[in-house]
Amino acid sequence: MSDCIFCKIINGESPARVVYHDKLVTAFHDLHPAAPVHILVVPNRHIDSLNELTPEDESVVGHMFIVAGQLAKEQGIHEDGYRCIINTGAHGGQTIFHLHLHLIGGGRMKYPMG
Ligand code: AMP
Ligand code: ZN
Repeated sequence: MSDCIFCKIINGESPARVVYHDKLVTAFHDLHPAAPVHILVVPNRHIDSLNELTPEDESVVGHMFIVAGQLAKEQGIHEDGYRCIINTGAHGGQTIFHLHLHLIGGGRMKYPMG
């Protein structure tokens, strides 16, 4: 998707503070962090949202969570805890239509959020 900001970040066409990249996923710091740690984990292949997932995406979605857990350890928030969120559609608060997992931590979360 040529006009997708997250595709551009994955391709290196747009700047981001990338913390992890492999053949399936890329992770980078959120531009407007909602907490001391706020990292987005995204599939390298453009997928609009959870609504578009197919059974073939099972491995990439599983990998997104594995990487989120690894990054939580690297960031030192795994023991106190953290939150993983995937917003979907307008009511879910999705603003960027390239599937992404928010890894948020570094402080106690209120529930529900915003
Ligand atoms: P969502 O509302 O779930 O679609 O989340 C989109 C997230 O992407 C928001 O938390 C934004 O702050 C973040 N964001 C938007 N543009 C960028 C960017 N260029 N680099 C990093 N994060 C971004
Ligand atoms: Zn994209």
